[in-house]
Amino acid sequence: MGTENITDDNFSQNDVPYPKSHLKSENIGTDPNFQRKIVWRNVVFMFMLHLLALYGFFLVITFKVKLPTFVWGVFLAICAGEGITMGAHRCYSHRTFKATLSLRLIIIILQTLAGQNSMYVWVRDHRLHHKFTDTDADPHNATRGFFFSHVGWLLSKKHPLVKEKGKTIDMSDLEADYLVMFQKRWIFVLFPMISVVFPTAVPMYLWNETFRNSFLISFVLRYVVVLNHTWTVNSLAHIYGNKPFDKNILASENSFVSALTGGEGWHNYHHVFPWDYRAAEYGTSFSLTTMFIEFARNIGAAHNLKTAPRYMIERKITTSGDGSHPGYNKMANGNRSN
Ligand SMILES: [Zn+2]
Ligand SMILES: [Zn+2]
Repeated sequence: MGTENITDDNFSQNDVPYPKSHLKSENIGTDPNFQRKIVWRNVVFMFMLHLLALYGFFLVITFKVKLPTFVWGVFLAICAGEGITMGAHRCYSHRTFKATLSLRLIIIILQTLAGQNSMYVWVRDHRLHHKFTDTDADPHNATRGFFFSHVGWLLSKKHPLVKEKGKTIDMSDLEADYLVMFQKRWIFVLFPMISVVFPTAVPMYLWNETFRNSFLISFVLRYVVVLNHTWTVNSLAHIYGNKPFDKNILASENSFVSALTGGEGWHNYHHVFPWDYRAAEYGTSFSLTTMFIEFARNIGAAHNLKTAPRYMIERKITTSGDGSHPGYNKMANGNRSN
């Protein structure tokens, strides 16, 4: 109900509007001699933010923070995480399902809570990542190593190819979305209100938490934790793991990253079938996000959930996988498992 398979025949139809963003059109590669320019302002900001987060963590483990404040921080982290995984990633970047206006409004609010730039910029960078994966035009090119793909890319000036190719990404669907463009225009007001002021005010007014504890847990620690979880998809899941669907790319199946991110670590599958709303071969493995999307479908807030059909998945496993898929031998001998 409400789920559709994307097959060879309907792959390029209008409701999968960005197949281009999913295909590498040029072989750009990585220039090993390129010298990155460090943006020291970002380095200082990120360092201070992590230092404050560590202090917040220390307050938590020494029981200086009220229990409801800690629970509030965890709740906000899950909400912000879903704003990224369900919202920015599976809904807007890849259009893996269609969302009603009210669900899109919730998604925009949660993505603002996550504070990872505006939806427009997040999606442009992510489409760029899929189109030019692990080349100099990929904002977090993992061939430059763990640190660069994790956070280093945010601490240095963009490679000129990221800027140049970023302009070629089709963003017309987001430009036609009033909510996205409103958030893009007002992000400098919305971010402090939704991600800093509101989360900090709730524990102070509802259960008399101190400003210090409230600010450090509800904003700083929660923000830093979600940032680092998100970044593991770009770093760890592009470095460690097996490649049952395509052995020729860096993106890998990484269960640790999946556990951290609500199901975004099945990254070899995701790079091969980015339009699949499950972002994994089997929808429920560690995937809180998949469960939320299915819940949204069940209450009528999401529809046209897209999946890759078995035969396409099996064809990739047998033709380009690294042989690590549990059903590989059966499939390679032509015995389809189901
Ligand atoms: Zn990736
Ligand atoms: Zn993606």
